[in-house]
Amino acid sequence: MGGKRKKRTKIIRPKPKLPKTFECPRCGKISISIDIKDGLAKIQCGSCGLYTEIEVPPVFDEANAYGKFIDLYLDGKLEIKEENKDSTEDKNETEGESKELHSTSN
Ligand SMILES: [Zn+2]
Repeated sequence: MGGKRKKRTKIIRPKPKLPKTFECPRCGKISISIDIKDGLAKIQCGSCGLYTEIEVPPVFDEANAYGKFIDLYLDGKLEIKEENKDSTEDKNETEGESKELHSTSN
């Protein structure tokens, strides 16, 4: 009989370095930075390159803007402007579209 082991994968580690970083809904990394200016929140993920802008009330701070951003994102109402970064990791080009379809024209 195996013992009951509770998996504890939730390690809450405060990040003093980057207080205004949030979790990216797309890549899941804590690399969303928000810059609010003139009622416009510029939201950018430093990891996957996601970028968008949303209008926010003047009273909104970064956390508020992030909340709205998540809502819009999950609703699919966000226009994601993705920065065209050269991703050196994923260079899986679709090499040679192998058309191995069974052509039954025999
Ligand atoms: Zn991301």
